[in-house]
Amino acid sequence: MLEQYNLSIEDIYMVAAEMIEGVDELIMTDKTKTEFQHIMAVANMLHDRACAENKLFKTSKCRSGCHHCCSLFVDAYPVEAEQIANRIKGLPIKDYEIVVEKVKSNAELESRGIDEYIRSKTFCAFLDTQSKRCRVYKDRPIKCRNYNSLSVSACKKGVGDPDAGIPRTPPLLSISLLLNSAITLLRYHYGIEDSDFTPLHQSVLSFINSKTT
Ligand code: SF4
Repeated sequence: MLEQYNLSIEDIYMVAAEMIEGVDELIMTDKTKTEFQHIMAVANMLHDRACAENKLFKTSKCRSGCHHCCSLFVDAYPVEAEQIANRIKGLPIKDYEIVVEKVKSNAELESRGIDEYIRSKTFCAFLDTQSKRCRVYKDRPIKCRNYNSLSVSACKKGVGDPDAGIPRTPPLLSISLLLNSAITLLRYHYGIEDSDFTPLHQSVLSFINSKTT
């Protein structure tokens, strides 16, 4: 599988080693966060740096404000969901209430399964439907960061179609695979075993509820 994406185990170890250096530094300087929060901070930083410096990303059509993929089923690590739950608390109270209601209804929709969710063409609770921008863009899950589509029109056509797939090329897929594999290695390195992907809205809702009870 790795050859298909022009990747080797050494590539993954190299990225993981760079990430461990960054995470160890953060652990020393910021004791208020968990190891997994530091891992995701470093992974997001590497992703954003690759976007800014790597010419492959110039082929990606993903931009803030483009929102067609925001009707897809997203799952996230619990640390990402917690970060989003904390971020939306900073919204004006009226907006916060609207978003929480939408989180609840999307969480219910997620429980019906991926295909039904996508067919419903429901937008993510964190998309501002007026401006078409993600309200939690800085804290968006790695799954959203790694989307990297090559065609806006294909994304548009894919809305509501669970079989549409993402128009991407192996080099862009390889960067996403590299980062996800490095995150998995780091989870083992730091002994974090019980934090798998969970449907985004369900996970955010559990953090909202845990803070209000
Ligand atoms: S978190 Fe943001 S980028 Fe991701 S699906 Fe929701 S609105 Fe879109």
